[in-house]
Amino acid sequence: MSLDNREVIIRRIINMEDRISRCQRCSLLNQCVIKPSLGKGELEPDIMMVFESDNSLTKDSRRLIDLRNLIKSELNVDKIYHTFLVRCEPKVCTVRQNLNNFTGSACSYKKLLDRDNKCLLNSKICSGISVKPSDEEIIFCLPFLLEEMEILNPPNIILFGDRVIDYVAKSFGVYETNDNAHFTKKNINFYLAGNEEIFDINACNQLKKHFMPSTIPN
Ligand code: SF4
Repeated sequence: MSLDNREVIIRRIINMEDRISRCQRCSLLNQCVIKPSLGKGELEPDIMMVFESDNSLTKDSRRLIDLRNLIKSELNVDKIYHTFLVRCEPKVCTVRQNLNNFTGSACSYKKLLDRDNKCLLNSKICSGISVKPSDEEIIFCLPFLLEEMEILNPPNIILFGDRVIDYVAKSFGVYETNDNAHFTKKNINFYLAGNEEIFDINACNQLKKHFMPSTIPN
């Protein structure tokens, strides 16, 4: 990649991340998120990995590095980038729910967490439990992922989990992915993987059967 191209990509990614950080589309999610989850990794990736949202695996750097290393060694690639379908981690929270029940309306504070992950309602460390994003939240956030794919233009993308597969495939005009392990659209090879929590060497070897390393640019 030329220096000029790299600068353009960096500028576009920073611009997108700035918009994500200021995004207020999902007001309930925003309240209990210190910072949205942003993509990380190489700017010219051989493979982009897409997770549904931040979770116990993606927040555990050791497990995330293990997953990246597994893919690197089994698929013989160097450069990996990972990102998310939904940037603000959805949580259920009894503290917020109790307040809402008490007042009879949704709490209108924009932020309920401070920088140290402490809840402004009870001054304790956030005890919210991660849950799956709603369909509406996915639809609100999906444009950021599609923009990120367009900016980084990876030759290969691994989609982790049924909902990531479903929404991304449909965004690329693929409505039937049953029994398929991959599809190709706009010169990108998409690989359909199970949930990242259960992605092991066997799952990686299944994916490897369909992997098209020749598409990786030199
Ligand atoms: S989840 Fe995505 S769309 Fe919703 S507020 Fe966060 S960044 Fe915006």
